Amino acid sequence: MRPMSQRQIVHIDMDAFYASVEQRDDPNLRGKPVVVAWLGNRSVVCAASYEARKFGIRSAMPAVTAERQCPSAVFIPPNFTKYRAVSHQVHEIFKRYTDLIEPLSLDEAYLDVTGIRDGSMTGVEVAAAIRAEILEETSLTASAGIAPNKFLSKIASDWKKPDGLFEIRPEDIDTFLFPLPLGKLPGVGKVTEEKLGRHNLNSVGDVRALSLPRLEELFGQYGRRLFELARGVDDSPVVPDRPTKSISAEDTFQIDLLLHETRPTVIRLSERVWESAAKETRIAKTVVLKLKTSDFKIITRSFTPGVAISSSEELTQIALSLLDRVELGAETRFRLVGVGVGNLVDPDRVVLQPSLFD
Ligand SMILES: [Mg+2]
Repeated sequence: MRPMSQRQIVHIDMDAFYASVEQRDDPNLRGKPVVVAWLGNRSVVCAASYEARKFGIRSAMPAVTAERQCPSAVFIPPNFTKYRAVSHQVHEIFKRYTDLIEPLSLDEAYLDVTGIRDGSMTGVEVAAAIRAEILEETSLTASAGIAPNKFLSKIASDWKKPDGLFEIRPEDIDTFLFPLPLGKLPGVGKVTEEKLGRHNLNSVGDVRALSLPRLEELFGQYGRRLFELARGVDDSPVVPDRPTKSISAEDTFQIDLLLHETRPTVIRLSERVWESAAKETRIAKTVVLKLKTSDFKIITRSFTPGVAISSSEELTQIALSLLDRVELGAETRFRLVGVGVGNLVDPDRVVLQPSLFD
């Protein structure tokens, strides 16, 4: 029997989401290595189909590397308007079961399903029902992880991917965690993993052998987090709404520049901001340009178009047009430029261009 205080967290993660949507909508792409990426030298892979992953192609890899590793791959530019619509559909399914939904991105969310329907459904039953409804209503597969906390549920959803479901029960936590490589823990990236390795710490079990003071001595503040994670402890709540307020990027120049000389940077920053903004579940309505003069005066200009911004080019054009609204002497030099988007709203609260519903 599960104690009442035991939480039931479900992590749902759509399988190769953007690539799967493209394969669903174009039968010619099915069974083929599909890479969703913008064109261009600096572009990175947004998503790769499972066929493409067999060639070692991964998200965030430079698109040129992906092309080299699999010349036969089909490259598709991302259509975030479409992905956001599917994401919305999936969220509507979640809402049938719980209001405690914390989206991590367009294709991933934590759901707290503790005691829903008066405890008549277990976490596994909820996850199975959600997966079935997603498949039925979107023709896409999702993987689910069920566990007593967020961190374990996320590891669990990855365990049987794709199209999988896996539960880590409270009594199985130790058996499951002990052999796990430390790189699987949240916050352990390449650098931390190497550092841990230098202390002969390779698996969660290795960390379990160390005391809290020793871990704090070695890893500072993160030592306590490691101590807890190694014991499967994660009390962080599922936070239903964590709206992003704004997304921005800025650059300080090596030498101060004239206004027109900042244009290439404005273009590059706009592209970078678009890449982040497009992945949000909400749509940004306002574009903000920020400049800092050589005497540290900060100038901002903003614009909110009547219809939602739908491409990197549009965002760039707006940011560049905001440059024209900076009316300072022609000799004024600038030490910093920033581009941002703000005023993020739910998709049903903005006007989309009709042509985007292709
Ligand atoms: Mg996913």
